[in-house]
Amino acid sequence: MNQRETLKINAQGHLEIGGCDAVDLAKQFGTPLYVFDEKYIRDMMSIYRDTIAKEYDGNGLVLYASKAFSCMAVYKIAEQEKIGVDVVSGGELYTALKAGFPAEKIFMHGNNKLPRELEFAVESGVGTIVLDAMDEADMLDDLCAKYGRKQDVIIRINPGVEAHTHAFVQTARTDSKFGFSISDGTAEKMTAHVLEKKNLKLRGYHCHIGSQIFEKQSFVLAADKAMDFIARIKKDTGFEADLLNIGGGFGIWYTDEDAKISVAGYAEYLTALIEAVKKKSEQSGIARPFLVIEPGRSIVGEAGVTLYTVGAVKDIPGVKKYVAIDGGMFDNPRYALYQSKYTVLLANRANEACTEKVTIAGKCCESGDIIAVDVPLPQAKRGDIVAVLSTGAYNYSMASNYNRNFIPPAVLVKDGKAEYIIKPQTYEDLVRNDVMPDSLK
Ligand SMILES: *Cc1c(COP(=O)(O)O)cnc(C)c1O
Repeated sequence: MNQRETLKINAQGHLEIGGCDAVDLAKQFGTPLYVFDEKYIRDMMSIYRDTIAKEYDGNGLVLYASKAFSCMAVYKIAEQEKIGVDVVSGGELYTALKAGFPAEKIFMHGNNKLPRELEFAVESGVGTIVLDAMDEADMLDDLCAKYGRKQDVIIRINPGVEAHTHAFVQTARTDSKFGFSISDGTAEKMTAHVLEKKNLKLRGYHCHIGSQIFEKQSFVLAADKAMDFIARIKKDTGFEADLLNIGGGFGIWYTDEDAKISVAGYAEYLTALIEAVKKKSEQSGIARPFLVIEPGRSIVGEAGVTLYTVGAVKDIPGVKKYVAIDGGMFDNPRYALYQSKYTVLLANRANEACTEKVTIAGKCCESGDIIAVDVPLPQAKRGDIVAVLSTGAYNYSMASNYNRNFIPPAVLVKDGKAEYIIKPQTYEDLVRNDVMPDSLK
């Protein structure tokens, strides 16, 4: 466990998060339940914000990449912490605005933004739109003419760095549905195209090299390449970008195969990146760009714990033991999607020695409905409370009503108090959009 003051085992031998005993939370709110540690979220937002202030004279902005966990409360926290957010759909934009988030501090992404999403963004005064298709620039320019706006935009580029967890590769050409490649000249073509648009103000570039990355050097390399590109474009065309968005992707602890990084440790990633940008700016004589980063997973991932109750336990002698819980792929599809690993413990018996390795299975009618494989646990029995750690990112946001299970509610915990930020669904919610056509009546 990547222990901290707000995530530890208490004197009763129970898991405690945000000063709340997880067993009490399970009793009070039921399971499955997403629990979010407010202090951790705020600490992560502020460490990034303060590092930009300290190491880069505040000439930048942290965006919370809200696809990691999107709900009204988290946008409110981001606003209070004076950072920006990025959104990738009309739905995320709507949720942010509904929470009262200032539109000018929103960046909008998407490799295929729908016409209605672009119009919604322009209409609501979104600060910056990240362009990712030639004709998207045409569409947006027309919309801006209609609304009488001049829109700040940046272009998503591919720097030719691909990173995955502990490794990264430099590629000459990037095969991706995202961005315009530097190496094949399309990034430069797109720049010329956007510069012709009367209603668009090109500010600079965006790149995002991957997710769950621990290697500092991969961020440095991406920053180097983006800065070289900015310098070259200035030399060739006279256009000097004044904004660079270097994306997100900082890794978090899921199991002891991953590094345990403290809140303060994340400052080092950002500082390494900032040093690279400063150095390139000196070497190439281009002004230091306004620097934007957009971490998602590292802000909310370790803040989240999911609580479940053990139901059926099935021992298949000589094969494996399944411990079934009252959740599954409908609240956490990450094992089913990419065999993600998690640390699991019994929240009500957190001090007991682990005596066996079990597979945590969900309740869906699907063999692939697994949460974790071969995790060490004390002998689990019906009624025990299972806690899966580091589930704050890409769990709720990827949840579904598969098998017409409820998407679990979420509570925010702080100083021993817990409050709903997402309330429980009801059976009525499940049939809300169902329609019985006259032809079937
Ligand atoms: C997903 C995404 C992020 C956030 O990535 P994390 O790994 O969650 O930090 C940032 N920027 C873009 C464009 C993304 O698609």
